[in-house]
Amino acid sequence: MDVSQRIVLRFPRRLVDRPIVYRLIKDFDLEFNILKASVTPEEEGLMVLELKGEQKNYDRGIGYLADTGVRIQSLSQTVTRNEERCTQCGACVTICPTEAFVLDPATRRVAFDDAKCLACGLCIKTCPPRAMELRF
Ligand code: SF4
Ligand code: SF4
Repeated sequence: MDVSQRIVLRFPRRLVDRPIVYRLIKDFDLEFNILKASVTPEEEGLMVLELKGEQKNYDRGIGYLADTGVRIQSLSQTVTRNEERCTQCGACVTICPTEAFVLDPATRRVAFDDAKCLACGLCIKTCPPRAMELRF
């Protein structure tokens, strides 16, 4: 049976230059489509992939990624903003790798476009009043 999943991979700094994703094709016969790739301010690599293949190969490939130290997150998670908590401080604007937050210079208000969000979780740690929340 084939599976197709959208996942977020986080590479610790020591793994950023290693050809780890390439081995998913070569060793595990998986196909992937990179939807987004960036490096966070902490120099952690962040990649959003659509990964396809036979279930047993997919499971082995995910096991391989986990063994190398890559952290894997399913995109079934979503991040939402608690509007009552948000103080419009702007701390999330520069941290977001997909520019999901936009500061309006006229009103000083921060708009959140959840369609751009990858659920990477960076803004959850950054937001002082804990307005950003992870949902499953
Ligand atoms: S979780 Fe936060 S930082 Fe990450 S993509 Fe979504 S809005 Fe941006
Ligand atoms: S960091 Fe939190 S409180 Fe500040 S603008 Fe972003 S969501 Fe609102």
